[in-house]
Amino acid sequence: MPECLFCAIVAGEIPATVVGETGRVLAFRDISPQAPTHVLVIPKDHYPDVTALAAAGDGLLDELLTQAHQVATAEAIAERGYRIVFNTGADAGQAVHHVHAHLLGGRALGWPPG
Ligand code: AMP
Ligand code: ZN
Repeated sequence: MPECLFCAIVAGEIPATVVGETGRVLAFRDISPQAPTHVLVIPKDHYPDVTALAAAGDGLLDELLTQAHQVATAEAIAERGYRIVFNTGADAGQAVHHVHAHLLGGRALGWPPG
């Protein structure tokens, strides 16, 4: 089994509730949802954080964000609004070092975040 939790989900070795997928991107529900819609969108290839993903180029970050918007539309939260968060590094509380966009919505989201 891959050491990385999200690589294991991509490999189908750990179950996840998949809500969207392209050849290069996977969207699945967060196991501990913080909002009525809480979906994680990841590249299938391993990048540790959003900076590394951006540096990879090749339109992969664009594809990931497009997928997040498509899930928001499918979940009927696109019109009222949603938040996309990339926790990056220790102060942001990044726990899984396989880049993931948190797509959060379905309720009013406070600002500033905690
Ligand atoms: P972060 O703190 O930004 O690294 O977020 C990691 C996220 O992964 C958290 O919101 C966790 O609830 C979520 N998570 C951890 N394990 C799983 C899993 N097996 N399936 C889905 N989401 C998970
Ligand atoms: Zn990984």
